[in-house]
Amino acid sequence: MKYDNITSGTFLERPNRFIAYVEIDGKREKVHVKNTGRCRELLTAGATVFLEKSGKEGRSTAYDLIAVQKGNRLINMDSQAPNRVVEEWLYQKSLFPDLVLLRPETTYGKSRFDFYLETSSDKIFMEVKGVTLEQEDIVSFPDAPSERAVKHVEELIQAVEKGYQAYLLFVIQMKDVRFFRPNWQTQPEFAKSLERAAAAGVKILAYDCEVTKDELRIGTQVPVCLSYLSEMPEPLLDWYDRNRRILPWREEPQPYRVWVSEIMLQQTRVEAVKPYFERFMQKLPDIPSLACAQEKELLKLWEGLGYYNRVRNLQAAAVQIMEEYQGRMPEEYEELLKLKGIGSYTAGAVASIAYGRAVPAVDGNVLRVVSRLIREEGEITGTDVKQRMWEQLMQVIPKDRPGDFNQAMMEIGATVCIPNGMPHCTECPLQFMCQAYQQDCVSDYPKKAAKKGRKTEKKTMLLIQDENKVVLKKRPAKGLLSGMYEFPALEGYQSSEQVLSYLKEMGLKTVRIMELNEAKHIFSHIEWHMKGFLIKVDELEPKGEQLKKEGWLFVDTVEAGEQYPIPSALTAYAKHLDLKIGSQKVRENWRKKDETVIDSNSLL
Ligand code: SF4
Repeated sequence: MKYDNITSGTFLERPNRFIAYVEIDGKREKVHVKNTGRCRELLTAGATVFLEKSGKEGRSTAYDLIAVQKGNRLINMDSQAPNRVVEEWLYQKSLFPDLVLLRPETTYGKSRFDFYLETSSDKIFMEVKGVTLEQEDIVSFPDAPSERAVKHVEELIQAVEKGYQAYLLFVIQMKDVRFFRPNWQTQPEFAKSLERAAAAGVKILAYDCEVTKDELRIGTQVPVCLSYLSEMPEPLLDWYDRNRRILPWREEPQPYRVWVSEIMLQQTRVEAVKPYFERFMQKLPDIPSLACAQEKELLKLWEGLGYYNRVRNLQAAAVQIMEEYQGRMPEEYEELLKLKGIGSYTAGAVASIAYGRAVPAVDGNVLRVVSRLIREEGEITGTDVKQRMWEQLMQVIPKDRPGDFNQAMMEIGATVCIPNGMPHCTECPLQFMCQAYQQDCVSDYPKKAAKKGRKTEKKTMLLIQDENKVVLKKRPAKGLLSGMYEFPALEGYQSSEQVLSYLKEMGLKTVRIMELNEAKHIFSHIEWHMKGFLIKVDELEPKGEQLKKEGWLFVDTVEAGEQYPIPSALTAYAKHLDLKIGSQKVRENWRKKDETVIDSNSLL
């Protein structure tokens, strides 16, 4: 589409939607603005504008303002141009090679569409919208609320319901933009109507344009991102760059390290994981060593982190990688999902952080943040909600920084949009788009189903020792804490008399018995309520054979602490035998390591 008699000028002011004043050849001229939109970002004082001289007699303005220079970009702002340029383009059969009929401005029932088209197989209605609003190379529509625009979208939906094809075509009146999105800030109703339209089968397309001062031509297709979350990546990444925590797995994001850290971080805080991670990497530095490790060693390395199936699955996946992937962790999300213990979240984290694949990683933190941003009314634990959020994030995850984007989401969930207590909204870079914050109902989200009550189990723990040894028992191979070691226990709360009588039955001679404080440990679905007895017997070994049949093991006390994986549920009792187990032990070793470094440095 060509313009004639083009001249340039300097924009001065715009007293109303139709009129502007422009300096042309040193003279202040009143000109007609061919765009009734707001265009506030475009028409700034001093901007270079391009005008077409009107040949018509008797007009009060001699020029039509048709384009404006914004930075390095020339933007056509003639609101009649998109329809004209699309008509030319459609006639060239660029969109529909088998076009047989094209009729502009067509009325159908009470609706009026920009185009009616027929191809060899379809009857099509099309609406065209010109787009001039651009920020950071992202374009959006509308620049001011437009009820008509919502109505047009609804009419396209009705056309689809009546068996027509329907197209909504956004003509971006400039070049070199990253993607198109609806303007959620200015008119959420329009953005929501687009989501409804897409779901109903309306095809929503965007094309940029080649713009020169005297010509406009349809260029290439531009991605359309309908998600509300498209506003999020830039401020989020900017915040992440300034606030990211230094974490061992983050600084060296090799696939194995990312994978192990992500499995450890499930259900566990970052600070608690750090020492475990370092120890794990020292003992099992790569996939082959993990695949070959003994179960007892694995459980010992995991002792205190809980959810022990995680480490069993980790090893099973390592074996799978050795057998099916020649020892190299797969790179693609779909392949990672085939590994034991790797679900959508971990696959997304490894694929994005270690391999730069643009795929989301949706964990509890991310679900919470997104549910507050969009005021998600569905229960957060529902698979449909999770899937919907995954799809929305998939639309907006930046291809150049997917790993950082996912980590930024997790980070903001862990440190700003926190789970318990009030989130730190004043520090949040997403506050400007957070619907829960804006509606003052942050604490109503995320929506959660009422928790089922936990089952309670009462137990009496028996800490039996002679001079050198302590009694341990291996838990069954399946179920809670499978394969871990514990103290023999009696069901229910037993009195000291009942315990003494039990020990006698087992053939043991009790020298001393001391009742210990009660303790409680909460698992996800069960609570252990425990009482305990510290029991000194004269000698364990003579009764060895009989007791071993009960699954009892007589273990050197030091060895018990160092080599046997004992769940941290028993920490309250283990300390009476001087056994340091689980996180307590890892933390102490970690502290010692830190102290050693300081000492050796001070000697230099
Ligand atoms: Fe969470 Fe508040 Fe940020 Fe909303 S504004 S995402 S509630 S921290």
